[in-house]
Amino acid sequence: MFHLISKISILCEPGDVQEVARLLGSKDVRVNCLDEYGMTPLMHAAYKGQADMCSLLLQHGADVNCNEHDYGYTALMFAGLSGKTDITSMMLDAGAETDLVNSVGRTAAQMAAFVGQHDCVTVINNFFSRARLEYYTRPQGLEREAKLPPKLAGPLHKIIMTSNLNPVKLVMLVRENPLLVDVGALEKCYHVMDLLCEQCVKQQDMNEVLAMKMHYISYVLQKCMAFLLDRDDKLDVLIKSLLKGRDGDGFPQYQEKFIRDCIRKFPYCEAALLQQLVRSIAPVEIGNDPTAFSVLTQALTGKMAFIDAEFCATCGERGAEKRCSLCKMVTYCGLMCQRLHWFTHKKICKGLQEKDAPRLREHLSTHSIKQTPTSPQWPRPESCVRTSGLKL
Ligand SMILES: [Zn+2]
Ligand SMILES: [Zn+2]
Repeated sequence: MFHLISKISILCEPGDVQEVARLLGSKDVRVNCLDEYGMTPLMHAAYKGQADMCSLLLQHGADVNCNEHDYGYTALMFAGLSGKTDITSMMLDAGAETDLVNSVGRTAAQMAAFVGQHDCVTVINNFFSRARLEYYTRPQGLEREAKLPPKLAGPLHKIIMTSNLNPVKLVMLVRENPLLVDVGALEKCYHVMDLLCEQCVKQQDMNEVLAMKMHYISYVLQKCMAFLLDRDDKLDVLIKSLLKGRDGDGFPQYQEKFIRDCIRKFPYCEAALLQQLVRSIAPVEIGNDPTAFSVLTQALTGKMAFIDAEFCATCGERGAEKRCSLCKMVTYCGLMCQRLHWFTHKKICKGLQEKDAPRLREHLSTHSIKQTPTSPQWPRPESCVRTSGLKL
């Protein structure tokens, strides 16, 4: 047996996928065999970042949650350590548990964070299994009709899984799917999101981060619905409202108020995460840093949201490379986003090119968190003040 085990660990080198497939096919080795450290071939492949090998092993029934490893590491932990987001997603899709801990009590997300693999942390923290959503596509108990029509599960799951929480991006995801651009469909979707939010709060190991994310998505869907109730093209009006910058510095005021209002409406006042968000946002005057969006993003994904050259000024997608050809100060992921932004950007574009440049540039590239000792601009929900005893 032992030499077969070493055979497969040796075979887990790049380019040996076919040989491993042959070995597994001939039943020469067991797919979940362990080496002398308690590592399975899947753990080896995940750690070495071999996506093809991982996928082959999973197809042959590799146990994604095996933690016979000497220090209790799982394949998901190895994937997180390797920094490969595709492999991390693959492990999650295969049913990897996110709350298993190693011998010193660390989860896969905590281990990935410890070694600075923040993209993997985001993937793990944002994971939500399709099966958990599909539960609502079947009538439960005495229900005559399921809460969620099966055809909506796919588009809704796509929105839940996005790691870019920019509200413009979320509205775009709704707009791009004709099934979702419908008042009845949006109503069903947001009800399900509210139920999931409640479930995340009430489950035994309460997941406040996921609960807040579900609430946020529900809020965006409700806004889409409210705008749609009027006319068919109203989602464009919502997007423009979210992008519209105020006079002078182009700060998107509506978007800031939108996110503050959403957080304020989180229905579980006693949640520690809500209180932490309120504490960070309430003292900040609208227009100053940190924005409600950056605070929320950091809480939900563990990452700082910077206004940076790397991100699209319209939808917040990463890897934006197209600059405004006039001021060269803002970047977009593509022509569509640039066109969407122009109605408001044109008001400050000239200023960015000319005399206002130093001031506006500073505003656009502020990375530091400024604390401003001004009076709170954000009305606190009364019930929360009472329950939490927070003084703001
Ligand atoms: Zn964009
Ligand atoms: Zn410009």
